[in-house]
Amino acid sequence: MSKKYEVRKIKTKRSYTFKEIADLFDVHVRTIQAWHVDGLVTLEGSNNPYLVMGIDVQNYIKQQKQKHKVALKENEFYCISCRKAVTPTEVFSNSNGIKMGGNKQSVILSGVCPTCNRKVNRFTTNEQSILEGKSNTI
Ligand SMILES: [Zn+2]
Repeated sequence: MSKKYEVRKIKTKRSYTFKEIADLFDVHVRTIQAWHVDGLVTLEGSNNPYLVMGIDVQNYIKQQKQKHKVALKENEFYCISCRKAVTPTEVFSNSNGIKMGGNKQSVILSGVCPTCNRKVNRFTTNEQSILEGKSNTI
């Protein structure tokens, strides 16, 4: 997240569609969809379209800024709810075989935060190592 997002454009107490958020920040709607995959919280029950409370958009952006300061170990995931690196109770591949990021061949791994039980995601180029590392410790 290199772009500077003006969180003040977002009103905390109203809900937004991904498209509305994208328009406010002048980014593509796919950017917001990626945030969702990465953990942006949507309103429970909403999915067509997804709705996001302004406060959750603000929190997500703030947490993204902090996220860069958290160095994750190989088997750690960042929980946006707990705001810290956690070692998930279970880890599974969420990539459906899809690789991203050009030569880096990144995939998305998902896990469950042991503290709050929310889903945590991370991009990695080291899928096998993390999955195997995790199974060794169970
Ligand atoms: Zn958590």
